[in-house]
Amino acid sequence: MELRLHDTLTREKRPFVPLDPKNVRMYVCGPTVYDFAHIGNARPVIVFDVLFRLLRHLYGEAHVKYVRNITDVDDKINDRAARDFPGLPLNEAIRKVTEETVRQFHADVDALGALRPSVEPRATEHIGEMREIIEKLVAGGFAYAAEDHVLFSPHAMNAADSELPRYGALSNRSLDEMVAGARVDVAPYKRGNTDFVLWKPSTPGEPSWPSPAGIKVPGRPGWHIECSAMAWKHLGTHFDIHGGGIDLVFPHHENEVAQTCCAFHQSRMANYWMHNGFLQVESEKMSKSLGNFITIRDLLADWPGEVLRLNMLKTQYRSPIDWTLKSLEESGKTLDDWYRVAADVAPGKPAASVIEPLLDDLNTPQTIAALHGLRNSDVAGLAASLRLLGFLSESAAQWEARKQKASGVDASEIDRLIAERTAARARKDFKESDRIRDELAAKGVVLKDGKDADGKPVTTWELS
Ligand code: AMP
Ligand code: ZN
Repeated sequence: MELRLHDTLTREKRPFVPLDPKNVRMYVCGPTVYDFAHIGNARPVIVFDVLFRLLRHLYGEAHVKYVRNITDVDDKINDRAARDFPGLPLNEAIRKVTEETVRQFHADVDALGALRPSVEPRATEHIGEMREIIEKLVAGGFAYAAEDHVLFSPHAMNAADSELPRYGALSNRSLDEMVAGARVDVAPYKRGNTDFVLWKPSTPGEPSWPSPAGIKVPGRPGWHIECSAMAWKHLGTHFDIHGGGIDLVFPHHENEVAQTCCAFHQSRMANYWMHNGFLQVESEKMSKSLGNFITIRDLLADWPGEVLRLNMLKTQYRSPIDWTLKSLEESGKTLDDWYRVAADVAPGKPAASVIEPLLDDLNTPQTIAALHGLRNSDVAGLAASLRLLGFLSESAAQWEARKQKASGVDASEIDRLIAERTAARARKDFKESDRIRDELAAKGVVLKDGKDADGKPVTTWELS
């Protein structure tokens, strides 16, 4: 079976044919680093990690390049830095905010079992490429300087008689509709009300670089141009897959396509545009004002990252996902069971029954159903399949020990009580042995009496 992926641009599932199977290239929009990542941000991280792993499985590890950027220049970062470190010069405060946020992001995504991308470019290290693209756009008549800004004109793009794509094609809207729907308070320096910012002036103290397009005052880039520049630098002007959350289709990805295609005179930027659906919490939109905003970091205090990962993959990536405690608890139980049966066995080969649904536009619910099927028929296949999907990073003992730590149970104390109970039973003091059993049960520890291979009585335990 071949890999088929849904393309947002053509709105259909198509066979995936890489431009170069020796160099399969994927770009995913990464975080803007001003705050802790929330569980919605974890969705693209996990979904595109699964795709990265699948592509490596199909084309070989050395033949897949995955780029996920870090947006470290953005007005939200400036605002946060000024608020959190009012005593510091702004640029120093910004460095503190971005460094700490990147560190936390890495800790979060590592815990979620996501591989690091091949390259993690930062916007601030690609200002030269941004300027270069802007100069090309101005030279081509697609962009203009006005009041120290550089603006891109979608009208100029759609008026150009060439192989360029139509502005609005990705998000499936017409420019006329956009004009009609545009806000009335359009900035005076814009010639058209759908024109968007490629570059803007900085006030003294704000991050700034020498400006393109003959502008004398220093400035900083707009958000969209950052991704066009980083994708170009690391993947070329035309590559295979571009991904992100569904909220990025418009305007961010529409504008990326416009910039890249107009600068390099081509009809496509990525051959497949993939977008994950949104995550909501207990049937409500997640937002700070509703008080149901959950960071990855908060969840990791209560759950192993692999439980969050499995819970995310229970829903196919294009569907909306409702994040609930009930579902998390079930995911936790499933992983407890898989760790018990598969974590310590020598892995075989990933099972075809697991790979096949993945090939169908990452049908992870089907994949998980297949894993449940392997549980009782092919434990070595289950182990290999789980590893391919980014699970079983620990041994069964480590997993169990971590759970105990999380639930406040001390394993050596339990062993001591079990030894006392065994002694009580040996002297037929069943009152005492029952008392110890009840004491442990109150802590959620269930005892199981059995016999070892030589017929000697042994007591094992697990958490209820
Ligand atoms: P941001 O830092 O807000 O630009 O978001 C980083 C990534 O997370 C983008 O790909 C967003 O589309 C994605 N994202 C943000 N919120 C959610 C959500 N609630 N559900 C799914 N994806 C989200
Ligand atoms: Zn982007």
